[in-house]
Amino acid sequence: MTYVNKGILKGKEQGFETLAVRAGQPPDPSTGAVMTPVYLTSTYAQERIGKHKGYDYSRTDNPTRTALQKNLAALEGARHSLAFSSGMAAIDTVLRTVGPEGHVVACNDVYGGTYRLFERVLRQYGLSFTYVDGSDSGAVAQAILPNTKLVWLETPTNPRMALCDVREISDLARKSRARPQVAVDSTFATPYLQRPLSLGADIVVHSTTKYLGGHSDVVGGALLLNDEKMYSRLKFLQNAIGAVPGPMDCFLILRGTKTLAVRMERHAENALAIAELLEGHPKVSRVLYPGLPSHPQHSLAERQMRNGGGMVSVVMKGGARAARRLAEGTRLFPLAESLGGVESLIEVPLAMTHASTAGSQIAVEPGLVRLSVGIETKEDLLEDLRAALKKA
Ligand SMILES: *Cc1c(COP(=O)(O)O)cnc(C)c1O
Repeated sequence: MTYVNKGILKGKEQGFETLAVRAGQPPDPSTGAVMTPVYLTSTYAQERIGKHKGYDYSRTDNPTRTALQKNLAALEGARHSLAFSSGMAAIDTVLRTVGPEGHVVACNDVYGGTYRLFERVLRQYGLSFTYVDGSDSGAVAQAILPNTKLVWLETPTNPRMALCDVREISDLARKSRARPQVAVDSTFATPYLQRPLSLGADIVVHSTTKYLGGHSDVVGGALLLNDEKMYSRLKFLQNAIGAVPGPMDCFLILRGTKTLAVRMERHAENALAIAELLEGHPKVSRVLYPGLPSHPQHSLAERQMRNGGGMVSVVMKGGARAARRLAEGTRLFPLAESLGGVESLIEVPLAMTHASTAGSQIAVEPGLVRLSVGIETKEDLLEDLRAALKKA
């Protein structure tokens, strides 16, 4: 697959890996430094009042952040890009475009922090939310009301690994009377696996903390979009709110995106092997991985995604106790929240990342264990899981 180049050679198309390494990062014009400098400055000298080199204050813009934004825009095939201090900061900024009395249709398997923001923060300001099964495009369309401003999708979802058909839902949203914006949280897939803007979505959201950063050493977020007016609105909101990343964080994420393609290939290769091991195991009731032919939306995965990605969820026959024993019994998979780093991690969502959904309509089953499969030696990971399953 080739991607339209946004930053290097005008008019020529370059491959994803080339863009990942090069886009937004020409050698530094003043020194030739190959690596993008970390511009640790809050302010910039102005030649005359209002006349400057494009930077006046680092809440508004910073050159290291600009480099990251150009890089992400190239990878996502987007005209506009904004980097944020966290994924949640990016999500909150999108929701501020909805306005009071606005309605949002969200898929019912959203990230726990997103659900918490919607229910425990934004409801107080008059926004309302309807949660529907995002894998049922018709149900999403039916939930759209006259005052629906936004459709919030996650695909694959966290932690159930369900998919939303981005093309179908975007078409239906555009045909509805309310014409809501369609935002896709594409954190699990990354632009290497899927590019929602090319499928008709309006806004792509990433927690760059995860695969884009890739090394579990930074927290960040990003928005990617094509529409000029929406971009101006989001840029205004971000600057007004101050939800911006520091230059060192931008540097770390930029370092991560360079290897995104090779990492995602290995994540997916290891994840598929693990999904196959788990699927055949007598203590396992279900494996949720889009790359498995048994996944209910495997054919959509094949259309929409390059591979199944690095996240695998498994439902244990023994419920919460077996889930806990598996998650606490591995040695190569530390028990930890978060995902998308080079190291494998394991967790029990209902007790950890998704505790905020307990008892709600979107609570996950207690026996579900989520694995973020890293890029370690495949056999070592399989061996570790086989041993932990024995004790689970
Ligand atoms: C982690 C995550 C977020 C939130 O991002 P932060 O960087 O932790 O603020 C949002 N959506 C998904 C799918 C995530 O995995």
